[in-house]
Amino acid sequence: MTITAPLDPPARLLMGPGPISAYPRVLRAMSAQLVGQYDPFMTATMRETQELYRRVWATRNDATLLVDGTARAGIEAALMSLIRPGDRVLVPVFGRFGHLLAEIAERALAEVHVVEVPWGHVVPTSLIEEAVARVKPAVLALVQGDTSTTMNQPLDEIGAICERHGALFYTDATASLGGNAFLADAWGVDAATAGLQKCLGGPSGSAPLTLSERAVSVIRSRSRVEAGIREDADASAADFVRTNYFDLGMILDYWGPRRLNHHTEATSMLYAARECAAVLLEEGREAVIERHRLAGAAMLAGVRGLGLGVFGDVAHRMNNVVAVEVPDGVPADAVREALLDDFGVEIGTSFGPLHGRVWRIGTMGYNARKDAVLVTLAALEAVLRRFGVAVAAGGGVEAAGDVFRAAVREEVLA
Ligand SMILES: *Cc1c(COP(=O)(O)O)cnc(C)c1O
Repeated sequence: MTITAPLDPPARLLMGPGPISAYPRVLRAMSAQLVGQYDPFMTATMRETQELYRRVWATRNDATLLVDGTARAGIEAALMSLIRPGDRVLVPVFGRFGHLLAEIAERALAEVHVVEVPWGHVVPTSLIEEAVARVKPAVLALVQGDTSTTMNQPLDEIGAICERHGALFYTDATASLGGNAFLADAWGVDAATAGLQKCLGGPSGSAPLTLSERAVSVIRSRSRVEAGIREDADASAADFVRTNYFDLGMILDYWGPRRLNHHTEATSMLYAARECAAVLLEEGREAVIERHRLAGAAMLAGVRGLGLGVFGDVAHRMNNVVAVEVPDGVPADAVREALLDDFGVEIGTSFGPLHGRVWRIGTMGYNARKDAVLVTLAALEAVLRRFGVAVAAGGGVEAAGDVFRAAVREEVLA
């Protein structure tokens, strides 16, 4: 091979907790030609993308846009822009990403309060309410789906709790959006962020974000004048957002009617984000969630059909990822390597207390499909057998197949 050979990644089926194989339509959109930052097509595509994401988030929020960067960029933009130094911020933690929110809030110079539950559980709503009443935070920061544990935190009552106690409600929906219910307005969410590489079926590198009017007014009051360009900001020197790239006030003005220059929108990622939303909405929000539910239920039944255990409170599992217990004495990483080498199938490892104890298998976006589920289970069975595990022959494919067949029967009857 010469160094000028075209890029040629290996064929992979990405069945981990993200990133996952992208929808072909998204990849095609990313190869479309660039236009200038103020080209009418650019502005129209930004407007269209905002409107598409209002429908994805189920919101009427005018302030619905993209932050250029991975999901973490969206989180950082939201928290750095919303939190004033010295603000109390409450973070209920049920996995790795809760710790990330707490860490970023600390960098924003918040007084951070954490309530934590053991991994594998969600935080009881009553515990959150009690903590909000006690701490009286300016911001409650809560993950929806935490891929580190596969748990899906119920959010439907959290907005009302925050409203009663005068807190802003921020949530990280990166792993859950598009594969599990999310209703920004109905749930009273003030700020939510995501990424493309989970259920939305795109590459990482763009962070969809939506902000309520309450959130926008806090952000506006803290946005800064940039040397002679913006003259409308009223933030005092002590209060302005301590980041330029992630100053959501500036990003809002770039996306807003004034189109004030800030960064150069990552055009190919805009195309990708636009296409992810279009794919989702064309299938229908409910239908996409149902497809994730079905693929996830089939994967869960399949791993159990192989005789493997599942980690955590399964009743609160996200639709799109299952944590499979590694059988005693089996080298977790060697199994993953064999799956990749022999079958081109990638599944996920785990962090912190779960490292070496569970594999995380995702069924999201383009890969929330019957063939992807069955191929993964067949490959896992073959590899486990080679490592000496007495798995039930054909048990995974059979049990998962039953779930898909039952769904087809239900559809025929309906
Ligand atoms: C995957 C994930 C992220 C990822 O952030 P990136 O910056 O895109 O890597 C953030 N939050 C949650 C809850 C996730 O599951």
